[in-house]
Amino acid sequence: MPPINASLVLAGHLAVVAGTSLTMAQSPANPPAPADLVLQGGRIYTADPARSVAAALAVRAGRVVFVGAAADAKRWMGPGTRVEELAGRLVLPGLVDAHIHPLDIVDLDVCDLDSRPLTLADLSAFVAKCVAHYAPPPGGRLIVHQWNYTDGNQPDARHPTLRAALDAASTTVQVQLLGNDGHHGAFNSLALAQARNAKGRTVGLSKATRAGEFAEYKPFVGVDAFGEPNGAVNEDARYLINSHSMLYSDLEAVLKVPERIPQRLNSVGITAILDAMAAPDGLPVYDKLSSSGKLTVRVTLAQFFDPSRTRTPGGKIDYDSMVDEAKQIRARYATDPLIRADVIKLFADGVLEGNPFAVPPTLPNAAALKPFLQPIFSVDAAGHATVTGYVDTGSELCTEVRAHPGKYLSAADIKAFTTAHGYHPGQCAIFSGELQHKREVILEYVRRVHLAGFNMHIHAISDRSVRTALDAIEAARAADGNSTTRDALAHLQLAAPADVARIGRDHLYVAFTYSWMVTSQDYDLTVIPFFERVIGNSYQALHRPGSYYEANTYPVRAVKAAGGILTAGSDAPVYTRDPQPFVNMALAITRSVAGAPPLSPQQSISVREVIEAYTINGARMLGLEKDAGSIEVGKSADFVMVDRDILALADGGHPEAIADTHVLATWFRGTKVYAGATH
Ligand SMILES: [Zn+2]
Repeated sequence: MPPINASLVLAGHLAVVAGTSLTMAQSPANPPAPADLVLQGGRIYTADPARSVAAALAVRAGRVVFVGAAADAKRWMGPGTRVEELAGRLVLPGLVDAHIHPLDIVDLDVCDLDSRPLTLADLSAFVAKCVAHYAPPPGGRLIVHQWNYTDGNQPDARHPTLRAALDAASTTVQVQLLGNDGHHGAFNSLALAQARNAKGRTVGLSKATRAGEFAEYKPFVGVDAFGEPNGAVNEDARYLINSHSMLYSDLEAVLKVPERIPQRLNSVGITAILDAMAAPDGLPVYDKLSSSGKLTVRVTLAQFFDPSRTRTPGGKIDYDSMVDEAKQIRARYATDPLIRADVIKLFADGVLEGNPFAVPPTLPNAAALKPFLQPIFSVDAAGHATVTGYVDTGSELCTEVRAHPGKYLSAADIKAFTTAHGYHPGQCAIFSGELQHKREVILEYVRRVHLAGFNMHIHAISDRSVRTALDAIEAARAADGNSTTRDALAHLQLAAPADVARIGRDHLYVAFTYSWMVTSQDYDLTVIPFFERVIGNSYQALHRPGSYYEANTYPVRAVKAAGGILTAGSDAPVYTRDPQPFVNMALAITRSVAGAPPLSPQQSISVREVIEAYTINGARMLGLEKDAGSIEVGKSADFVMVDRDILALADGGHPEAIADTHVLATWFRGTKVYAGATH
């Protein structure tokens, strides 16, 4: 047998399982060149195909050169080798967050609601304090971060709407709330008055302009009982009021401290990410990190362009310019060892939360296969919304209301109708949500970028957008004959079983956000009553086993069983700026927060499956599997030591305790890039 040389080992030609083959292959006469680093005395979960667990590993020149038994690790130690004792701790491959908005995870000195659920009265008082503290000039703007749209927001007599609450905070400064999901927003009257039409003229957002020149944005502009904007302005309608992109970050502030991004990621064990919405204006952040040598994560940019808003001078959608720019950006990073830009992001729809407190209730806007139901809400003794009945939108009365919309516009007519029938005439509307772009635009854009060799990353929340995304990917693959792209869907709050089967057949990746897979009375009331006939607001009323929503919400196990590939995306800063991978892992297993019953528990996955989602599967989705995603000889030395054995916790019946895991150290390319407080 010829001696095995180091380069062969480095090239990964040796299958090393628990160190046996390597020990036999290398005779004592030919000891390997000493390693730079040896870890020993722990449990190293490798995430290799056999799910091997080893006791030691060795690293040289940033690569793993040995994984195996403790006795064999000694052969790799030389005078210059640094030896770390694991003291029984668990080591995992560096984690892959396959859907995150990294420019927004840095803590900045901004007015920040921190996702606290506040009543409108408390919200108003908080914003008033921010106006005083940050003191924007009269007519200037106050941006309020991390507003919780789904929990809290209970009105009272003095603050009947969001708009009234924000007007009570300030009438001299424009106030804008940034929803913590990136999709919702709210504005005070001064800000609403700034809305500009297509000609650039300031006309304001009002009952008249919403019905007139802004009619296409109607579903995204909430109204009060009399049709005036109630302050809620969602999705693309926010562009009418200001030119800010949907990213919430303060780019200038982030550019001053870009290293905080990899630092935060490393501190929770993440060593590779997909930036799920990389607009060209954010690229200087990465360039600065790259040139300063402070980029201690692998980054894949999911390049974001807005196909509905990128137009030729003649007004046509300018696919060519988007594809050309995307190719240029991809080429710019072609030789960067840590950054790639071979993914394109597309929103197929928005979000599914309606507002039960608005009169009439605001409907969800994500694209559903069937029209949303029209629940009649009241407020229970505890201040929570509850469902008392449903509007029969097929009734003669509703047919009449829809046929004569002008008849129910005056305040007196609305009052009379509501008194007579027990619901607002606006609830006769039939609406099944909207795709973010026209179906033909989604199909054409995906076809074009696919032809240019990009992988797709499509935000799809509701069942019709999932179906449309699949139609687009399948058509694009058929058109160019290339089925090898690593296309992915993100989120999948609701997907029909037939479409889950297609995800499996197409071998698509799904970046699930496991922290969303829980029940919460407030949240559930913003979604489920629009899909299912619910009476009341109890868990039993909302979560009927076998109902369409309950059976098909976040279908993680179903996707895996069908042959889809599970990955994990925190979507931070949505809900929290903390990417919290171990909280997300726990919730993938339990689908429940403390004290609450689980959400569709039949869709839960095992600890080993969620580790795979967070490691090797994420690496495959990003095309990094030769370098990252598992601890195997030849791969980059990206791994993390944690303070508890999450496998043992799950196997011992306590998966919820995984959420409290702390990272003790993170290594990236063989260098310790994070060392936590001593525990
Ligand atoms: Zn996202």
